[in-house]
Amino acid sequence: MADDPCPCGGAEPFERCCGRFLGGEAIPETAEALMRSRYTAYVRQDIGYLKRTLWPKYQDGFDELETARWAAESHWTGLKILKTEQGGKGDRDGTVLFEAGYLSGGTLRAHRELSRFRKKAGRWYYVEAVPE
Ligand SMILES: [Zn+2]
Repeated sequence: MADDPCPCGGAEPFERCCGRFLGGEAIPETAEALMRSRYTAYVRQDIGYLKRTLWPKYQDGFDELETARWAAESHWTGLKILKTEQGGKGDRDGTVLFEAGYLSGGTLRAHRELSRFRKKAGRWYYVEAVPE
């Protein structure tokens, strides 16, 4: 539904938040916006979006089946952005530290990651997880 809240926890409903990015009508202008949309893609099991927003050089090695399996088995409970560095509209690199909550086998867990993002030809991509 158009007014459904966005899984990423943003203030706007899904269609005006990450939905525009998953649907290809807009591209995220910041690393944090891309991070949020990738979390939403996990929630909605939009594996194609996860691949498209991965740094181009790494797309060949992307394991779609494994990612789909993990996304399907995990019940995502929410996203917390803990810290961002650079990753703004005028930047080419940035990092986002986040915690994504999920239920796995009845246990509440958190996936905490410092993600590195890089911009190429005006688009942000997820590059890799880096040590905190
Ligand atoms: Zn969102």
